[in-house]
Amino acid sequence: MPSASQLAEFIRQASQDSGFELAGIAPVQDFPELEHFPAWIEKGYAGEMKYLEARDEAGTLKRTSLRAVAPWARSVVVCAVNYNTAHPYSTQARDPQRGWIARYAWGDDYHDKLLPRLRSIEAQIKHYCADESLKTWCYVDTGPVLERVYAKYAGVGWIGKNTCILNQKTGSWLFLGVILTSLELTPDMPAPDRCGTCTRCLEACPTEAFLGPYQLDASRCISYLTIEKRGSIPEDIRAGIGQQVFGCDICQDVCPWNRKAAVTTAAEFQPRPGLMHPALDWLAEMPVEEFREKFRGSPLRRAKYSGLRRNVAIAMGNSGNQAFVPALERLCEDEDPVVAEHARWAKEKLQKS
Ligand code: SF4
Ligand code: SF4
Repeated sequence: MPSASQLAEFIRQASQDSGFELAGIAPVQDFPELEHFPAWIEKGYAGEMKYLEARDEAGTLKRTSLRAVAPWARSVVVCAVNYNTAHPYSTQARDPQRGWIARYAWGDDYHDKLLPRLRSIEAQIKHYCADESLKTWCYVDTGPVLERVYAKYAGVGWIGKNTCILNQKTGSWLFLGVILTSLELTPDMPAPDRCGTCTRCLEACPTEAFLGPYQLDASRCISYLTIEKRGSIPEDIRAGIGQQVFGCDICQDVCPWNRKAAVTTAAEFQPRPGLMHPALDWLAEMPVEEFREKFRGSPLRRAKYSGLRRNVAIAMGNSGNQAFVPALERLCEDEDPVVAEHARWAKEKLQKS
């Protein structure tokens, strides 16, 4: 059996060969950041994201400790892919005809792209170790792991005040994947916090979703509201959503570490036609068949047809662009009551502006 450090080196190389720009190893521990998670859930800051509240048989939140859900796990390999393509940030795009889709969602669904790479690393580890008793699990978002906490302790990046993982060289445009393993591996050093006295992200958030540095009320975050939330969006928060129709990049766009963030040429993360700064009337008029076809294999499917058009109605209402009134009038008659209600709100807002 190779030594812990030989194994760690092998895994780092395998991660790189499998297309991950960054990779590191964290030990399985109950890190201090995990202690805040139950109170965060208790206070309702996760909104309706019930999957975050998954509990084990003893009633403990699965994401608070790997010791309960994967008692065999000794190390967590955290891998990261840069999805930053060479295009403007939302803070540079101000066309009132158009909406904004979060950068991560312009191309193909990252879950489909990262999991095969993790499985490839997993297979290489198993082959290298030739040990029948070796156990591994791979996850992209779906596991009982708070990825960014392990990413910090794996040295991939620090957790910024905006709660994103930030790497000194690549910035915060990172998709994370993890491999839990029963192997005892030599861990990396945790990444030091380099936010310093900066508070740009906290000040830039248009819906005041930050409770303070490193603390997010996800139920107020545009990413949650436009992607995960079903049904009606509270009226008092709609104006703050601006022209974001799927997700939000603002607290990353303003981050100084993203000013010179590395860019990727990976074809799968390049914007599909029309998705970068999309025309709002195009999205508003899109028939369901086109939605299914256009967004096959795209993260946008998560918002569903209803959610995306609800978001488009809000964005039109926030645009100040009277030319959208006819499109909103059509949406007011929509058979989907959620879309129709948001369109009525938007039309009224436009007419008052
Ligand atoms: S993603 Fe947008 S809404 Fe969410 S915290 Fe960042 S700036 Fe605020
Ligand atoms: S904007 Fe400033 S405070 Fe926020 S994550 Fe970036 S460096 Fe940290």
